[in-house]
Amino acid sequence: MLGYSKGSKSLPNGRIPTSARTLLRMTNLCDEKARLVKEYELATVAFSEAVSLLQRRMGTSAKKEYASLARAADETRVKSEKTRLALEQHIVSHGC
Ligand SMILES: [Zn+2]
Repeated sequence: MLGYSKGSKSLPNGRIPTSARTLLRMTNLCDEKARLVKEYELATVAFSEAVSLLQRRMGTSAKKEYASLARAADETRVKSEKTRLALEQHIVSHGC
């Protein structure tokens, strides 16, 4: 007796379930989505910070300074809209 291969342990269906493979592949595909979501979140935070700064300065800062703050806030708004669009377009094209 060599204790050799006493009954194989291989299962009738020892393969990785298809659903797990699909899930893995989907996770890989959606790295881009995760990146876009993060970018959108950062842009949204930047926008809300710019707006609250603008509101704090309202009435207390010179017109010129206020105008430049307003312009900066508007730029962050445009950026957050762009990143939202990019995210939506990715979701549509990937179906993820
Ligand atoms: Zn995706």
